[in-house]
Amino acid sequence: MTMPRAIYPGSFDPITYGHIDIVRRARKLFPKLIIAIVANPNKHSFFSVGEREQITRDALVEMGINNVEVTSYTGLLIDCAHKLGASAVVRGLRANSDFDYEFQMALTNRDLDSDIETVLFMTAGKYSFLSSSIVKEVKRFGGDVSSFVPSSVDQALTRKLAQA
Ligand code: ADP
Repeated sequence: MTMPRAIYPGSFDPITYGHIDIVRRARKLFPKLIIAIVANPNKHSFFSVGEREQITRDALVEMGINNVEVTSYTGLLIDCAHKLGASAVVRGLRANSDFDYEFQMALTNRDLDSDIETVLFMTAGKYSFLSSSIVKEVKRFGGDVSSFVPSSVDQALTRKLAQA
């Protein structure tokens, strides 16, 4: 049996060690993993979608993670999954608070397309509080984010904040 191709969708604004933890776990089950960054015109993002793609690629190189593709999409996740030939959707779970949303999304996507399965990976305990929003907040006020994101991401945050 060949392993299905999986996509890991999300905002990745920017990618953190929490996302990278999920990538590492998912890779064990899905050798073909594609990070799909959502370009949602209704949701304001700190980095543009192009910047997020580049930052994600740089972070993967820095972490020595090969063979994970990075792409972006607009519209429905299931349409993106089809286009990429993926039959599994990877998402990460932190604490209880993620569960309701992830459950709702997974059931909605299954309703839209019963061939696509969502697989949830539990994060490492040390990343269970970590989010892209927290990283931006800490960085904005001059805090040290080196235990939250790879240094290439930290540098991208510094550059972006200097532009603002
Ligand atoms: P979205 O806006 O789609 O939630 P995010 O980039 O915030 O996009 O998250 C993408 C996925 O990664 C979600 O499933 C989220 O729960 C998961 N995730 C985010 N941060 C962490 C973390 N620290 N540990 C594990 N999973 C995480």
